[in-house]
Amino acid sequence: MKILVLNCGSSSVKFAVIDTKNKMAISSGLVENIGVNGHIKAKGPINPIDEFLDVPTHAEAILAIQQYLKKQDLINVIEAIGHRVVHGGKYVKSEPVTQEVIDYIRSITLFAPLHEPAHAIGMEEAKKYFPSLPQVAVFDTAFHQTMPPKAFLYGIPYEIYQDLKVRRYGFHGTSHRYVSGEAIRLLNKKPEDTYLITAHLGNGSSAAAISQGQCVDTTMGFTPLDGLVMGTRSGSIDPAILFFLNKTLGYDIDRLDKLVNKESGLLGLSGLSNDMRTITQAASEGHERAKIALEVFCYKLAREIGGLAMALPRIDALIFTGGIGENSVIVRELVLKNLSILGYDIDPEKNVNHGKKSSGIITKDGSAKAMIIATNEELLIAMDTEVMV
Ligand code: ADP
Repeated sequence: MKILVLNCGSSSVKFAVIDTKNKMAISSGLVENIGVNGHIKAKGPINPIDEFLDVPTHAEAILAIQQYLKKQDLINVIEAIGHRVVHGGKYVKSEPVTQEVIDYIRSITLFAPLHEPAHAIGMEEAKKYFPSLPQVAVFDTAFHQTMPPKAFLYGIPYEIYQDLKVRRYGFHGTSHRYVSGEAIRLLNKKPEDTYLITAHLGNGSSAAAISQGQCVDTTMGFTPLDGLVMGTRSGSIDPAILFFLNKTLGYDIDRLDKLVNKESGLLGLSGLSNDMRTITQAASEGHERAKIALEVFCYKLAREIGGLAMALPRIDALIFTGGIGENSVIVRELVLKNLSILGYDIDPEKNVNHGKKSSGIITKDGSAKAMIIATNEELLIAMDTEVMV
């Protein structure tokens, strides 16, 4: 089946047309800088495009994608549309898009203010431009809905969970689900006899404990700010720091929001960049704060993996994925060094040789298994869509 996968972000719409038969993308690209200085960049079977264009809202972005796909002779080929949705609230699995689903996504805007309205618009506009195609919503949070209350509850008054649904939701679920499924396949194991920890490390990062194919705990929480140190996000910090900054520097809610979401993490620690490539390069050249940022990132990740380990009876494999997980030799090395208590002994050659294009084990034979698996969220969204239509 040929599926159009749409990922409506806060200021961009990414797309891919996936052929589920051979699991390849026939066309892919994005419209970015919506509302500012619109730009479409895409490749298709006929020709690529790289142009500035007027896209005041997500509606024009979807139209631009539809027009591009028309020029690529793909309009009559596409059989269904799958949407990536950041926050699924109550949904525990992918859902066919109905007005009720769209209304619910809008109703939880406060859970992910930049994303949920964009997702709802994306679905409505796609309905307009592709009226005959069935649509499916695939939620980043759904895979984590199997967490037990002891993992998803925060230690705050229970009424806040009951009345306002404040709890740990977890994110990157599509990626954790995809790579854990791939790990089970590559390790030639049965899901019911497999225990994994998955670490999705990109601009945003999270790790999850997967027991018998189901998520039992994860590091992101009520929002994607919780857990690991990320590109510009702080990860979990003592909330009293926010009260302290309010009292000493007069920072209000918006200022604090910006501080922990946009100015922290690798960027804040290093004072240099949120990009792991820049950080590792600078660290190797002796930049002190880049070295600290790299160390904190890897130590915090190892510490969280250690915490997730206690949710499982054993760990069959630790999986690295995402831009950093798939590409950074030094991050994997430092994380596994920090985790030697769990029995990891890295094989330096395998660690260098495996990566984006080649999944595989990177630890020495006989030691605990760590491996790299390239994530493919678009493919999983396409496959879920195929199953549901
Ligand atoms: P997103 O979360 O936006 O999908 P990605 O999964 O693409 O992000 O990951 C982006 C991160 O991956 C950036 O920090 C980038 O520096 C890092 N990255 C990409 N390639 C490499 C590389 N070769 N070495 C180290 N880090 C890399």
